[in-house]
Parts: sequence; structure tokens; C-alpha cells
Amino acid sequence: MLTIVWDIDDVLNNLMHEWFHKKWLLEHPNCHCGYKDLTINPPHEILKVTKEEYLCSLDEFRMSEMMNLQPNQEVLSWFEEHGKKYRHLALTAVPGSTADLSAFWLIRHFGKWIRSFNFVPSERASDCSSLYYDRTKYDFLKWLEKADILIDDNSINIKSAQESGITTYLVSRPWNSGGVALTEVLRELTTVK
Ligand SMILES: [Mg+2]
Repeated sequence: MLTIVWDIDDVLNNLMHEWFHKKWLLEHPNCHCGYKDLTINPPHEILKVTKEEYLCSLDEFRMSEMMNLQPNQEVLSWFEEHGKKYRHLALTAVPGSTADLSAFWLIRHFGKWIRSFNFVPSERASDCSSLYYDRTKYDFLKWLEKADILIDDNSINIKSAQESGITTYLVSRPWNSGGVALTEVLRELTTVK
């Protein structure tokens, strides 16, 4: 049985889209750009703010709204139909301070199939735990040695996993190029043996 490793944010959910519309635009009504203009991640330069200001806003959103984030319905439907044919684990890069919320959210919505939550702490000035164990998803996957497939929206994670011989799917988002629409990723997944 193949093991699929799922990114959480912007794959199992639409975090960036929700944050942008439900927090950023409300607090910055004069913002000159739309979600589709967020062609770099992190997008602080596009938003014309410091990286700290952007991360602070995103972390605040996670703290207050993570539990209200809806799972991506398309993915949930795929799990309902095909989930049990594979083993699954989640691998996310989040600040240590909000990792518990991500874990709770994941198990609540996808726990029937994804029974393992893993995270690589995103660097934050207030948290030095990112210095322990794995620093990147690549480090984690190398240690794990069990991943057959990685689904992620970050092209750096995808490239490094490819180099380790893992089958990868880059989910198309405004900040990456060469990605595949989620619908297509889910369709292709069912053909992988
Ligand atoms: Mg992601």
C-alpha cells in the first residue's frame, strides 16, 4: 500500500485564500492586489509590508480562525472514495505555537484516513525549537524513508523530494509555477500504482 504525504495548508485547506479575504483585506481595505497577485510566498514584498508583519498577521489568523477553516471539499470527497486504498500522513511547516491547532484541525477533518500529524517548525524569533531535529520537510522525509508520494504547494519541497525519488505533485497556487490543478492531482493519484 502506497504512503501519501499531504501538506496541510493550501492543500487540505485554503489557508492563504481565507487569511487574505477574511483578515488581510478587511484590515487593509486599500490593498492594491488580489489573491491571484500573491505570486511569491511569503508575499510580504507584494503586500508592501515587512516579513514580520505578514507572519504576525498569518499567525494571528491561525490562532483565531484555524478551527473555523473548512477542509477542501474536493479533497475530502476524494478521501471518502479512495482514502482507504493508501496510507496517509500529514507533514506541515507551521510555527510551534500554532502546531497544536493544525493537529486538531487535521484529525477532526481527515482523521479517518490521516492518522499521523507531523510538523517542521517554521522559524519564529520567539521559538528556538526549529533548531532541533529536522529543519526542512526534506530532512523529515529522508529520516522517515516511508514516503512514496508527496503533495505540496511549495516548489522547493517538491524539488527536494523528487531528488529523493519520491513521486511528487505540485498543487497549483498563485505563488508557484508548473503546478497542477488540485482536481487533476486527485485524478492522477488514483492511477498511481
Ligand atoms: Mg502548503
